[in-house]
Formats: sequence, structure tokens, C-alpha cells
Amino acid sequence: MGCDVSTSTGATMSEQVKIVDGKPVCFLYDEPLPSKVVVCGRCDGKGVSTAYLGAYTMEEMDEQGPEFFEDYMSGVYDRQCDKCNGLRVTAVILWDELTKEQEADLESDYIDEQIARNERLMGC
Ligand SMILES: [Zn+2]
Repeated sequence: MGCDVSTSTGATMSEQVKIVDGKPVCFLYDEPLPSKVVVCGRCDGKGVSTAYLGAYTMEEMDEQGPEFFEDYMSGVYDRQCDKCNGLRVTAVILWDELTKEQEADLESDYIDEQIARNERLMGC
């Protein structure tokens, strides 16, 4: 043993979110999927995020000085969220409403990914 395989969240490479009529929709191979709009989890629905800076401890904040802290808190370092592109929402697939074909596509896609993952782990 000794191989620590982290489990996937189920997101696949070919599945992506695109904006249609100002609303996020899940797509698979350029085909829209039944999806629903949810608040973006990365930026908590703010549309901007300082996640790229990493998390600062209070100690590190002190080292940067009070001006940095003020700027940080007032959003000077906020960047457009790279997950929702500042839209504050994103889309998730409604699995219950997929057609059989869509479901099969997504599942085979997922299995392909699993196989690729296992191949990468060979020899460990
Ligand atoms: Zn976001």
C-alpha cells in the first residue's frame, strides 16, 4: 500500500461553465446541460477575491504595516474571481434532468478520467 489516492469531486475536464444570456450554464462538448445557477463558492458571491494573495495571518498583516491592512480590507487587492469571472454566480449540473445520452457522456468522461488517473499512479 502507501499509495494515497485522493478522491475526485467528480468535475471533469470537458465539462465547463459558459455564460448564456448573462447566466451561467454547464456545457459538455459545446452542448448545454440542464443546470442551475448557484452562488459562487470561491468568492462567496462577492465576484471578487483576494484568494490569489493567499491567507494572511495577523502577524504577517502586522509586518506589512497598517496601510497594507487598510488597503486589503477596503478591497484594493481584490481581483475579479477567476471561477465566476466576477459574475458572483456559477452553474452546477442538474443530474436528475440529464438525458440518458448526456448522463452516459458525463459518466464515460468521468471513467476516462479515472483510468487516466490510475495510469498516472502506476509505478508508485
Ligand atoms: Zn466567484
